[in-house]
Amino acid sequence: GRYGPEEPPPLGSAPKDSHTMRTDTPTVIGLDDYRPSDHLADTIHLDILLHPTATRIVAETAFRPNPAGRPGAPLVLDGDELRLCGIELDGQPLPAEAFEASPQGLTVLAPPQRPFRLRVVTEVDPTANTKLMGLYRSGGIYCTQCEADGFRRITYALDRPDVLSVYTTRIEADESEAPTLLGNGNPGEAGAIPGTGRHFAIWHDPFPKPGYLFAVVGGRLGKVSKPFTTMSGRPVEIAVHVEPGKEPRAEYALDALERSMRWDEEVFAREYDLDVFNVVAVSDFNMGAMENKGLNIFNDKYVLASPETATDSDYANIEAVIAHEYFHNWTGNRITCRDWFQLCLKEGLTVFRDQEFSSDQRSRAVHRIGEVRTLRARQFTEDAGPLAHPVRPNQFREINNFYTATVYEKGAEIVRMLKTLLGEADFAAGMTRFFETCDGTAATVEDFLDAFAAVSGRDLSDFARWYVQSGTPVVTVRTEYDPAQARYRIDLTQETPPTPGQAEKGPLVLPVALGLVSPTGAAIAADCADLRPDGVHVMAGSRASLIFENVRERPVPSLFRGFSAPVKLRLDLGDDDLLALLEHDSDPFNRWQAAQMVAMRLLVGQATSESGTPVEASLLRLALALGRVLVVESERDPAFAALLLSLPSETEIAQEIGSDVDPDAVHRAWLAARGTIGTVLAADLAAIRAATEPDGAYSPDAASAGRRALRNVALDLLASADPAFGEREADRQLAAAGNMTDRLAALAVLSRIPGDTRERALARFAEDFAGEPLVLDKWFGIQAAIPEPGTLDRIHGLTSHPAFSFTNPNRVRALVGSLALANPTQFHRADGAGYAFLADIVLMLNGSNPQVAARLLTAFSTWRTVEPGRRANAESQLKRIAREQNLSPDVSDIVARSLS
Ligand code: ZN
Repeated sequence: GRYGPEEPPPLGSAPKDSHTMRTDTPTVIGLDDYRPSDHLADTIHLDILLHPTATRIVAETAFRPNPAGRPGAPLVLDGDELRLCGIELDGQPLPAEAFEASPQGLTVLAPPQRPFRLRVVTEVDPTANTKLMGLYRSGGIYCTQCEADGFRRITYALDRPDVLSVYTTRIEADESEAPTLLGNGNPGEAGAIPGTGRHFAIWHDPFPKPGYLFAVVGGRLGKVSKPFTTMSGRPVEIAVHVEPGKEPRAEYALDALERSMRWDEEVFAREYDLDVFNVVAVSDFNMGAMENKGLNIFNDKYVLASPETATDSDYANIEAVIAHEYFHNWTGNRITCRDWFQLCLKEGLTVFRDQEFSSDQRSRAVHRIGEVRTLRARQFTEDAGPLAHPVRPNQFREINNFYTATVYEKGAEIVRMLKTLLGEADFAAGMTRFFETCDGTAATVEDFLDAFAAVSGRDLSDFARWYVQSGTPVVTVRTEYDPAQARYRIDLTQETPPTPGQAEKGPLVLPVALGLVSPTGAAIAADCADLRPDGVHVMAGSRASLIFENVRERPVPSLFRGFSAPVKLRLDLGDDDLLALLEHDSDPFNRWQAAQMVAMRLLVGQATSESGTPVEASLLRLALALGRVLVVESERDPAFAALLLSLPSETEIAQEIGSDVDPDAVHRAWLAARGTIGTVLAADLAAIRAATEPDGAYSPDAASAGRRALRNVALDLLASADPAFGEREADRQLAAAGNMTDRLAALAVLSRIPGDTRERALARFAEDFAGEPLVLDKWFGIQAAIPEPGTLDRIHGLTSHPAFSFTNPNRVRALVGSLALANPTQFHRADGAGYAFLADIVLMLNGSNPQVAARLLTAFSTWRTVEPGRRANAESQLKRIAREQNLSPDVSDIVARSLS
């Protein structure tokens, strides 16, 4: 490189080292503390001289006092682990007494009261950057991650989302090391620097943006690309960049990108605004992907797919994440957030948009059920524990700990309820108003709601409580039928249990989509004054009563159709009524939900009674009803049929039990129920398998994926009923499988049947996919999820497997994350060894990658719900972590809240 660390800094004066800018003690930041920045940064010119260990960044920023800020205030710039090499103000070296600098910040003490230019030179070591925030190297590729506060790890800056700047970026690198150089915006001048072996590229982004949307990439990359013409006729080149040789595996992502762009034009009238759109896949990434303007950077697991290496759910996830990041161009980039408390403004809304996209591309009912399963498993769990927080939190110590299921998933549910509440037309008008009035600004949740209030004339102040109140509302239902009066009555009450820091709760505005179903299958017209024509009752207080007239037979209520509000439902219906809904409801979500409720009731009964309650009769009725429904559904919508056959997960069962949970008892109940269903339906399941034999080439489309899902659920249930048969059948499927979906499903079944066949299959799989890290993640994950006492030793062994690495977040999540989140009996081992193992890993990663460490640690958040012995073990591990010196803000925040 041109500038080594030993060379003198070329510009300005050396930093003083006497001052301390701020400490690493996490301070609490409050929503109410918001005040505008004292300075604005209109333009930023960056010159980035890429070097593996000593990258130089020359940043020239045009600052000016903010009219809305405090006159005469010092210019306080954020930094994080930076080395300052030079500083000039308006072309003159800044004298040492005029500023204070440390790796954590830079303050110009008395900046001019007029526009001025500051030129700052910093140096960073991308190879040593294991936190994967700021500029780092992944597999030899230079890349960046700046959200939430990584830009300050590149240069000193006003690193806050409400300071928007126009960026021009010059990137320079060795031509052999980094033939591809990418930045935000549109490409400009580029070329070789004669005699140096280096080259450069200049990128200009005309759209003002906050630093968290900044990105650069440099490396040896292959690409797939195609032209896209926007709805107004502007040509765009869209491209996906991957490790050379992997180009064919990027085709599906490129296709999903094209479909996303078209969909956003058709559904939201949003058009893309630059000449190029680049997606880059990297293998070391803390999260899923990042929406940097015009240059999305992705965890490669959400880009790379081939039938041999990716499952149907990988394809679906790629489609969803590509769409999500693309949709951020309008909801996130063109309209960004005023401060990080408004994170849901871009994330909840963008999740809603990607969910709608996937629903339009696939089966809406199936997708909705998937969304709700995720919400219940992750968000309801979060809401029920010590980490519960509002969709818009009002304080935080570490913002990176708030990229949560609550902000994302519950945030999306709020937007969905808003749409139900307002109806299609007003919702669409409100979105348009929001895009028009807030374009180019850093907005708030209030700005968003104001747009809908303005177009609909409604007062949304009660609805806004959804953003500020944490916890999952519980809705209890009582029904009464009066045959003499032909009158039916539904009484609803809502209550939200207290959450940390929020003892008092108020009622939420609940859109209740509902209808009446006859136990024999006929539809019953809902003659009810309090029901809108679209079948929605808007419940605004803590109780509501609905009276239906002219009801000639006792009906079964179908409530919260399509999961119209994210609540827990307590319903006084018997099994027969629920099974009538399963068979006859017109709402597919509630058909599935009814089966889940019957199953949940008996699973909870089984898991909590010492002797084992007599649930066999109920289970038998459920199995027979499923059998009847399957006759039609396995043909009509195989993916839906597969969901009907999927019992509530152990996590959901534990959550339903709520306290003193014995994970072993839950597991036994779960196994037994699956065994019974598999036995009762054996003939039907065998017929399903015969009818869904793969024919011909693999296609990732939803219909084909649905058939595979059904076929593989059938295998799983048959194996639960008869492990010897399951072992043979899974082994056969494994040998014959022409795609990763069928292969992995078979391996997962085998993994739960101890014996030589399993061990041989696991060994064979590792040989077949040596050199395929993303596939080996599946292999790590399956083994970490084996519900047997030997699993912890197996995991220990796998940590020294050559394909495993603690520096790669995907590997860590596959092995350690699967234990913590997908293996309840072994994580919650009675002897505490699972907890101790996770605590060891968290402490090990605390220094090298605090974000990944903190995320793993959240697995402890259910610790108060387990039985006393396990609870004590979990608590002692949490306290052990809390006692450690040098905890990162990330880990210290989670551990403190978990113990509070
Ligand atoms: Zn997002």
